[in-house]
Amino acid sequence: MNKPAELKLDTVPVWINGKALAPSGRFGEVYNPATGQVTKKVVFSDASLVDAAVKAATAAFPEWRDTPALRRARILQKFLDLLNKNQKALAAIVSEEHGKTLPDAMGSVQRGIEVVEFACGIPHLLKGEYSENVGTQVDTHTIRQPVGVCAGITPFNFPVMVPLWMFPMAIACGNSFILKPSEKVPSASVRMAELLKEAGLPDGVLNVVHGDKVAVDSLLLHEGIKAVSFVGSTPIAKYIYETCAKTGKRVQALGGAKNHAVVLPDADLEFAADALIGAAYGSAGERCMAISAVVAVGAAADPLVRLLEKKAKAIKLGVDMGPLVTGQHREKVASYIEKGVKEGAKLVVDARIQQVPKEGFYLGTSLFDHVTPQMEVYKNEIFGPVLIVLRVNSMEEAIALVNRNPYANGTAIFTESGGAARRFAAEIQVGMVGINVPIPVPVAFYSFGGWKSSLFGDLHVHGTEAVKFYTRTKAVTTRWPHQDTPAPGFNMPTLG
Ligand code: NAD
Repeated sequence: MNKPAELKLDTVPVWINGKALAPSGRFGEVYNPATGQVTKKVVFSDASLVDAAVKAATAAFPEWRDTPALRRARILQKFLDLLNKNQKALAAIVSEEHGKTLPDAMGSVQRGIEVVEFACGIPHLLKGEYSENVGTQVDTHTIRQPVGVCAGITPFNFPVMVPLWMFPMAIACGNSFILKPSEKVPSASVRMAELLKEAGLPDGVLNVVHGDKVAVDSLLLHEGIKAVSFVGSTPIAKYIYETCAKTGKRVQALGGAKNHAVVLPDADLEFAADALIGAAYGSAGERCMAISAVVAVGAAADPLVRLLEKKAKAIKLGVDMGPLVTGQHREKVASYIEKGVKEGAKLVVDARIQQVPKEGFYLGTSLFDHVTPQMEVYKNEIFGPVLIVLRVNSMEEAIALVNRNPYANGTAIFTESGGAARRFAAEIQVGMVGINVPIPVPVAFYSFGGWKSSLFGDLHVHGTEAVKFYTRTKAVTTRWPHQDTPAPGFNMPTLG
């Protein structure tokens, strides 16, 4: 039920040049998924608002670029302190707009904060290389320079963590930034921009715009923007990548996923089942690293499915697992339960017969067994609390199955065999691999990213790959001639 029209809704503003603005124009609705009510409206940016943000970022860039990295790091250090102080408040915003339970939201905010900890080490990360005497009396060094105004476009499922994958590293490297968070969860980004201002960030270095395709396209087509980081679904990631390539922008576009967990017969099945339950149903399955397909090898299948059934049925809605993000998304996820049944998969746990809270966008847990690769429940990213089990006879078959899937974000293997695990890690064509670890999200000082349809571009986010993405390398070759210096030649210089 929507809030009655006479109740005035709070407005989530854009953040441009250090100020919150809420100009008239188009607005979107922000829901509390646990109640199903509209709680706020959010400014939808048009091309002129995006242009104002680019102008602010462009004006702030030269001074920020020339600010010593050490001073930039000190501002990030203060931001880190403020994030730690405000972790609960940020998690509450995440929970209220996304629907995650509070402990789950706290964990996701923590993983974002860790990227800021890493970004505080930027003076070390920006160090270049130096070679003396690459030719007679000639030296070469490299420097890393920021690319300019960067933009970040983020999905609904991690309202704090995914923006923190991007802007702290970008601004640490000396860029200015425009963030366009998901219009479904807009508030946390504005709150983080306020905290960064409090930490001492000059106005214009970080700006936040909101909106839908209109705002995104205005960013993609704006000549003032030099690099775009995107995280979201695969079709949009591909569109972002292609549009940026056409307009000559640097781009990294992370897409959707269908993450497989392979369970070998020698695995500790109780441990594996516990891990899989958290990985499949945690955050109501709305994680790009959620395990959505279990590949049970040989004799592992029957006992594993029994354990998964028992544990999936024990999950308490509203306590262990929150609602889905919108009513529309809940309907889409629920439609896959019908599809799976029609396709002939065995429905072991059925969300449709579980009790759900009367209000909000809740959907219980579902578990399918005997799924085949031809079924829609396997081919598509469902992004909800629906786990499917495929049965194969050998590890070779399991590896081949995973490698045939177009998505390649994360995967995991459960086994007691070091040799099998090592082979899996070597042969699997997926960007992030877990060995008895169901959600192998790399920590902030490593980089996060998938392969194939899960990432369009070359460089992953955070860690050292983020430094590469948000900087350009320049190689400087130097000679200080004096009387003994050989005269420059006419032919291709070899400097020898
Ligand atoms: P989405 O692709 O619908 O939206 C992502 C962003 O793109 C949002 O800011 C949205 O406003 C914008 N957008 C949506 N439609 C657009 C269009 N037609 N043109 C231009 N911009 C558009 O994704 P979502 O539903 O917010 O998030 C869920 C998806 O994100 C899932 O597919 C999930 O796997 C993926 N995801 C991936 C990762 C990863 O690291 N690979 C991480 C989190 C989420």
